[in-house]
Amino acid sequence: MDLTPDVLTACLRRIATVLREQRQYLTDLDSPIGDADHGTNMDRGFTAVQAKLDGGAGQEPAAQLKLVAMTLISTVGGASGPLYGTAFLRAATALAGKPVLTLDDCVAGLNAAVQGIRDRGKATTGEKTMLDALVPAQEALSAAATEGASLQEAFQRAADAAEAGAQATIPLLATKGRASYLGERSIGHQDPGATSSALMLRAVADTLAGAVPL
Ligand code: ADP
Ligand code: MG
Repeated sequence: MDLTPDVLTACLRRIATVLREQRQYLTDLDSPIGDADHGTNMDRGFTAVQAKLDGGAGQEPAAQLKLVAMTLISTVGGASGPLYGTAFLRAATALAGKPVLTLDDCVAGLNAAVQGIRDRGKATTGEKTMLDALVPAQEALSAAATEGASLQEAFQRAADAAEAGAQATIPLLATKGRASYLGERSIGHQDPGATSSALMLRAVADTLAGAVPL
């Protein structure tokens, strides 16, 4: 199975739904180590994405990813807007001209997205950011592709890795973003951005698994 434009749109819609459902949870995570806006930020961004998807059905994957990027950059604000915006933009650039995406394309897209976040945020793993979910996910997706897993199985493994990575941010000391202002007091809390990354990957995995209707 390849990722067709319709399935990609379904994944993006599912992400919007999940972020709406988990808005309070993400904001609650951002409360002790941030400014309690991560859920609101992400929901605002993906609600705007959803509205634009309604008018852009059937566009090739790169065009959809670029639309997401532009919308997040202009609506999300905070640190996460430019970071996720850059991620989607880099993925769009890496996947330009492809009518459907194979698993290898998805690996290339996620690699480009993660590199974009690294470049933009000047962060690496272990700093209690979204990278602590995304880098394990990237490694899991890549390993699954090498082992010949299906697209569906590969995204399940990536989502599992992202969830484990998000949980593993709890004992970390934040050294980037707003949470770093707290120093040692950032320890003991799960990072909101790592959590939204894990939620997005789970939304894609669930869509591919047919757990939610297209
Ligand atoms: P803000 O911190 O501006 O209020 P959000 O609350 O929307 O923005 O997003 C916070 C999340 O952004 C953090 O939980 C963290 O995962 C991520 N983040 C912040 N700074 C960086 C960075 N330099 N690199 C990667 N991710 C970052
Ligand atoms: Mg915040």
